[in-house]
Amino acid sequence: RVRPQIDKNNEKFDIEAAVKFDDCTVMLSNVGSGQVQAKRQAFTFDYIWDRDNSQEDIYEEGVMDLVDDVLDGTNATAMCYGQTGSGKTFTALGFVNHNPLSGSDLGLVARDTGMYLRIFRDLLLCKKRKKHQQHILFSLSVVEVYNEQVRDLLSRQDIGNSEVQVVMTDDEVKMPNLTEVEISNLEDAFRCYKIAMQKRSARSTAMNDASSRSHALLLINVYRQQVTPSSPAP
Ligand code: ADP
Ligand code: MG
Repeated sequence: RVRPQIDKNNEKFDIEAAVKFDDCTVMLSNVGSGQVQAKRQAFTFDYIWDRDNSQEDIYEEGVMDLVDDVLDGTNATAMCYGQTGSGKTFTALGFVNHNPLSGSDLGLVARDTGMYLRIFRDLLLCKKRKKHQQHILFSLSVVEVYNEQVRDLLSRQDIGNSEVQVVMTDDEVKMPNLTEVEISNLEDAFRCYKIAMQKRSARSTAMNDASSRSHALLLINVYRQQVTPSSPAP
């Protein structure tokens, strides 16, 4: 995803360094200064979103199918990767707040809302639609990986005591004591987001480091059971 220039008067680099050339090619350029020679380089991707693509475009074209897959029982990951300031947090979380102008979704999903709340909106919608066929439960865990440490951002412990145990087998990583919170509505998802981000900033203040080298993982589990006369709600 190519991020737009945010404040044309205030950008550190005033050239458009990354340009979508076609659906699958990004052209990176530096104009060269002093000793540095001007250079252009093409990078190929499966698909590229441009600076004018919206949060909804990204969700509908890149994430929604994954949500369907997860509801069909497969695992899926949406990962934002890139240098600081390139738009990872904006894409994953975006604007997460109550929007007093919106009547639906408790005003939580707005134009600049990222994939996190959009995913839960659709998961919860599916749960509602299938409530006569399936018992469905969603849970959320949030961890932060910082250097070699993994911390549980939804733990009731304070951030200093929230390191989690990570068990690695051949092809799986397990965190057996991780806090899992049931998400029954968008308000739950919003509350967990606030708790996790507060913990994250408490940690970064304690370490005197704003954001770099830290990675956040939001893990959603889906539990399903067919509705039959002999299987009451779990
Ligand atoms: P990162 O998490 O990769 O360090 P951010 O998501 O914090 O980067 O983005 C840096 C700044 O750019 C933020 O102020 C963010 O709101 C803004 N931004 C990023 N992507 C977009 C976009 N597609 N549209 C508008 N603003 C954006
Ligand atoms: Mg970020």
